[in-house]
Amino acid sequence: MSEQQSHGSRNPRHFDVLAFRCDAAGIVEEIVADDLGLNCPLAAGQSMLSIIDPPSHQKAMQFLDTVVARRAASGWELTVVSDSRPFAAVFSGAMQKERLFIVVGRSARDITDVVETLEQINNEQLNNFRMAFRDQHDSFDRRVRTDAQAYEQLSRLNNELSNTQRELAAKSTELTRLNEEKNRFLGMAAHDLRNPLTVILGYANYLTMDGVESDPEKKRMYTEIEGSSRFMLDLINDLLDVSRIESGRREVEISTFDAADLMNQRARVFLPFAAAKKIELRVQTTGPVMMTSDAGKLRQIVSNLIGNAIKYSNADTTIDVTLRVEGAHLLIDVKDQGIGIPSDQLEKIFQPFVRLGKSGTAGERSTGLGLSIVAELVSVIGGRIRVESEFGVGSTFHVTVPLVVSGGSVLRTQE
Ligand code: ADP
Repeated sequence: MSEQQSHGSRNPRHFDVLAFRCDAAGIVEEIVADDLGLNCPLAAGQSMLSIIDPPSHQKAMQFLDTVVARRAASGWELTVVSDSRPFAAVFSGAMQKERLFIVVGRSARDITDVVETLEQINNEQLNNFRMAFRDQHDSFDRRVRTDAQAYEQLSRLNNELSNTQRELAAKSTELTRLNEEKNRFLGMAAHDLRNPLTVILGYANYLTMDGVESDPEKKRMYTEIEGSSRFMLDLINDLLDVSRIESGRREVEISTFDAADLMNQRARVFLPFAAAKKIELRVQTTGPVMMTSDAGKLRQIVSNLIGNAIKYSNADTTIDVTLRVEGAHLLIDVKDQGIGIPSDQLEKIFQPFVRLGKSGTAGERSTGLGLSIVAELVSVIGGRIRVESEFGVGSTFHVTVPLVVSGGSVLRTQE
């Protein structure tokens, strides 16, 4: 190590002093430094007097008494016994926790050095401690403040969230109530409208029959009344279905029936409508298909799909209804060569009130409710529906339903 480094070093300085702790009678308890160069060093348990020339013993006791009485004393010259020859040493002492801390040097300078260094060390350490403690205290304070602010903010947000949740829950309850009320009203209104409308339709029907009305202008009007009444009746029936479905009445009426027979019956009902538009309607089955499900719902599903196929097809096209069994499921395909559905609209058409055009190919009216009802009915009997279509080429609706309905819905057996 170079000299320069040694001077600049912060290592503890070396002092030529003897320092020890003792009691008021001078009995040594601990040697702190032993660099005075005595050949008969002091040890714990010995009296301080053992290193002092006997003629100086009395003065040494006075020194100890003074340290105790004044809490400190310095610069006392006492003769110390050395193996060569006695020499005068300087004693200083201070009380430290009811013990005496004694420093013995060869000159007063030695002791001042020690005291100054000790003071310096102590002050530095004290300052360091103070700073460290203040830093710690400050950062603790800061953390406590930040934590408190974060906690406050969190509590505020939490309260706001709880309030919003409460408001949402209240609004949701209110909406459910209003929705139920709307369904009840819709159901009542549709139901009450159906009876007078059936009467109007009946009379309009009668008046359009050949021979009943001879005036062609009047006959045209009656035909218009009949068409509009029929559309209204369809709409009312659809609305009743929606209201029934929305008010949660999704129970199924189970019976065992032949699905192929049901399909042929439906086709027979629709044949005249298809023929009127010069559309060929074909049903392909491979013998009876016995299933245990809700025949009414299946009938409604098939009727809607065939009705739409006719509504959205032009003359000289064909509609194929096919039926097959795969495992535990019945697969029904209704395929037309009609106007098709643009691909970006395919996802929407099962939602209520979605109509891509104003009417069918022969001006048939549309409500945009049929497919949403079909999708709901298919789900009630545990099935799935999907559509494939090419705009301008045609559409195929694929329905898959279990042959035996089970689980989920409320079942009501009908013999
Ligand atoms: P609606 O036929 O009374 O409008 P739907 O819910 O049955 O109501 O059908 C929704 C819409 O889907 C129809 O308006 C029509 O645009 C389209 N769509 C349904 N079936 C077909 C089909 N077979 N071919 C072409 N478009 C169809």
